[in-house]
Amino acid sequence: MSQYALAVDVGATKVALAKVDRSFEVTSKHEVFVKENDFLWEEIAAVTQELFEEADGSFIGVGIGSAGPLHLSTGAISPVNIPVWRGFPIVEKFVELTETRNVVLHGDAMALAHAEFRLGAGRGVSNMLGLVVSTGIGGGLVLNDELYIGESGNAYFIGHHTINFDGIDCACGRRGCVETYASGPRMVEIANSRGWKGEASFIALAESARGGDATALEVIDEGARALAIGIVNSIGSLDIQTVVIGGGVSQSGDVYWNPLRYHVKNEARFTDFISNIDLRPAQLQRDAGIVGAALGVLDAHSTEPVF
Ligand SMILES: [Zn+2]
Repeated sequence: MSQYALAVDVGATKVALAKVDRSFEVTSKHEVFVKENDFLWEEIAAVTQELFEEADGSFIGVGIGSAGPLHLSTGAISPVNIPVWRGFPIVEKFVELTETRNVVLHGDAMALAHAEFRLGAGRGVSNMLGLVVSTGIGGGLVLNDELYIGESGNAYFIGHHTINFDGIDCACGRRGCVETYASGPRMVEIANSRGWKGEASFIALAESARGGDATALEVIDEGARALAIGIVNSIGSLDIQTVVIGGGVSQSGDVYWNPLRYHVKNEARFTDFISNIDLRPAQLQRDAGIVGAALGVLDAHSTEPVF
């Protein structure tokens, strides 16, 4: 009988649930939409029940990947886009619902990094930093072939590494965080403040840059440089080589990757052990969040079926 995890991917617009087996095959995928849904948990509980009743294998636990903020010590989440879930005790809820204690919660960027390591651009390496550059900037770290989650479960919080101590105020309270220069929405805001008048999306900004718009090119170059400094600082601390980058911003092609590669090389050129950073675009598209969530359970040391 095959073993599988129940994977729960809590995103900005929907919560996806599916079964993922040990060969990482995704089956029975369901989506519950978040917007103005007063019965979000009830619907998720009903889908979970349905998946359990299919009973064509043994469940080994529930893996959750969630948009932040996360309160990992209590297993609660407060995803920015789900206002009805503030301090929502999702781990406890799944423990009650499924009668298993094997419920693992990871941040969404960490889950994506985990999936890239096992199945995507990070296959074959032992150490990897995975970054997601999108509305925010998050990450996940793999050391010695294992996901390193940190003592509170929040390793690798790169979006709020400051790279400029007198820089722009960040929503987190610090100044000059990587995210204040390099996230998609921040690049759009900065471009707007310099007179760029496009649709308010990074896709539109990238399109303008491709068309040769000087402001768009300048802002993307600065954003890529900010991320490059964050990456080079990280590699200098970790002494690893492979960096995998995914997320919406990273999917805009050369207009983003050319300045990013240039600045990483430029920032890293002074120190031998940092100078050979291997930057790779993420490879997984569909279901990466689901697989990453499931890996929290499938990749754990304990593999006994719980029921
Ligand atoms: Zn910050």
